[in-house]
Amino acid sequence: MTKDNKDKINFEKFIQGMVDVFYPPACPICKRPRPIVNGIRLNMCKPCRKKAPILVEPICFKCGKKLDNTEDEYCKDCREYAHIYIRSFSAFEYTDSLRKSISEFKYKNKKEFGIVYAREMCNALEAQIKLINPDVLIAVPISKEKMKTRGYNQAQIIADEMGKILGIPVDTELVYRIKNTTPMKNLDKANRIENLKNAFQVTKNVVRYKKVMIVDDIYTTGATIDAIALELRKFGIECYGAFISIGKGF
Ligand SMILES: [Zn+2]
Ligand SMILES: [Zn+2]
Repeated sequence: MTKDNKDKINFEKFIQGMVDVFYPPACPICKRPRPIVNGIRLNMCKPCRKKAPILVEPICFKCGKKLDNTEDEYCKDCREYAHIYIRSFSAFEYTDSLRKSISEFKYKNKKEFGIVYAREMCNALEAQIKLINPDVLIAVPISKEKMKTRGYNQAQIIADEMGKILGIPVDTELVYRIKNTTPMKNLDKANRIENLKNAFQVTKNVVRYKKVMIVDDIYTTGATIDAIALELRKFGIECYGAFISIGKGF
């Protein structure tokens, strides 16, 4: 590292330190300043961890949802419906506290919460992601209208931070959203497939990848990641998923 670079990093650290003193980064659950332990600022306070626990096994071998029964390999949804993506992982249990926090991250400009969640996702899912070894991370794109009103894509914030931590490239020009997917809950199989069609478009540049990991905040029914996986499969590309949390689904 050159001296200039070192000076630049030290300066950035210094500025960050000053910002931290006057605007201490908030815990995404209770919004109070995140505690410092042994000189390191924690991502969340200890009591808040209990309100947003990390998902532990048994989890569904396909979608990563928490299973009630240790004997099962798949959840009910994945037993009844063949998803198009290969496998998906989520970091957190879907609790009320987490749901509220993610909603603030998405709709109340709390971008810093996304950074915390991305770090937590890397901690919780690093082993699985390393095993898959994806060529690229891709944030689920949002529509132009949503981008206009919200000003940012929450999934992109997570993908960028995860890419930085894990050293995996992030591609922002690969997948485009054409229409919004509707929840699949009340659709039969034929309609589900119809619903996924043409929701997303991928650019020809996608051929340089073999394994793609899709990143977003919440996995609900898997409709969105399946819609992207459907497009990627046309090019023989495997699609994986990484989410902050996974809802109850069906
Ligand atoms: Zn807290
Ligand atoms: Zn499942």
